[in-house]
Amino acid sequence: TESSTLAEVAEVLRGLDRVAVTTHVGADGDAIGSSAALLGLLEKLGVEAVFCHEEDVPNYLRWMIPEQERQLPEGYGLITLDTSRADRTGVPIPDSGATLNIDHHADNPGYARTNYVDGAAAATAEIVARLFAELGVELDKRAAEAVYTGIRTDTGGFRYRNISPETHELAADLLRAGVVPAEVDDRINRTGTIEQLRVVGATLQNAERYGEVIVATVDDEDYRRTGGTELDSKEAIDALRTVAGVDVVAHLRQVPKGTKGSLRSEKFDVQEIAQGFGGGGHRLAAGFTLEGLTPEEAKEKLLGALRGRLDLGEKR
Ligand code: 5GP
Ligand code: MN
Ligand code: MN
Repeated sequence: TESSTLAEVAEVLRGLDRVAVTTHVGADGDAIGSSAALLGLLEKLGVEAVFCHEEDVPNYLRWMIPEQERQLPEGYGLITLDTSRADRTGVPIPDSGATLNIDHHADNPGYARTNYVDGAAAATAEIVARLFAELGVELDKRAAEAVYTGIRTDTGGFRYRNISPETHELAADLLRAGVVPAEVDDRINRTGTIEQLRVVGATLQNAERYGEVIVATVDDEDYRRTGGTELDSKEAIDALRTVAGVDVVAHLRQVPKGTKGSLRSEKFDVQEIAQGFGGGGHRLAAGFTLEGLTPEEAKEKLLGALRGRLDLGEKR
């Protein structure tokens, strides 16, 4: 599908009456940040808008979206943000189709009536900021904080390879609009518990090195022992990336369905690996779910897919 222009998307937003905004399952900072910012924009445009998701907004992000609907209200259109595939939306897309799909996943096929996909944007929130400018609406502090959160989380705190000069220029504008980075940090990164810290510790303890690859599994027994959850354990990923000489890191966590995997890399195309397991994402950050497999089984499968393509060396 052809991506529309920013002007065309702005035109769609201006013409809206009532609309629901949703994002992908397992919402992250960009999912909620881009949604919150767009809700702010719609409000300024006089559009009646609600956030709609079957899952709870994660606690550490709820300050951006305090209220939500669980189902698409009758007569509402649907805008999806940061959602690369139609089967990953927070609420099912109605038979009439999704109104608008705004995303930065290059593999997004464009499943809505109007699609805006920019794989070069560091975050979907960055695209929403461009829409404020396109529509001549000023970014107030609230919306700026939401955009900042999206960019900050999707760039690993301004560290990943998806960052461009434009990303930092926008960040500067957001600070001018009132964002205080340390305040956002307090809200999104300093709300943890000792149980969360312990499950991260357990995950790191389980880390194994195979040459250029680090794999860390975490299972139900680790959750029980530490009191932390599978999502809490994901915080370990950034520490896994600190080992010198490693290209790919994999975080494999037990979930009720099987094992959920998160892949990060410096150079290697992990999106292709994730796609091979029915998942997807970006070239250097991707994920998948292997149903019915334990993390140990998922690890063998993953190493099998990487063998011959990366130097797996000896297990350490
Ligand atoms: P994370 O590892 O943080 O869950 O996700 C990293 C990237 O991969 C994100 O862009 C996310 O949307 C994508 N991703 C994660 N899991 C899946 C999945 O199961 N399917 C698809 N299509 N994308 C995924
Ligand atoms: Mn996301
Ligand atoms: Mn994103």
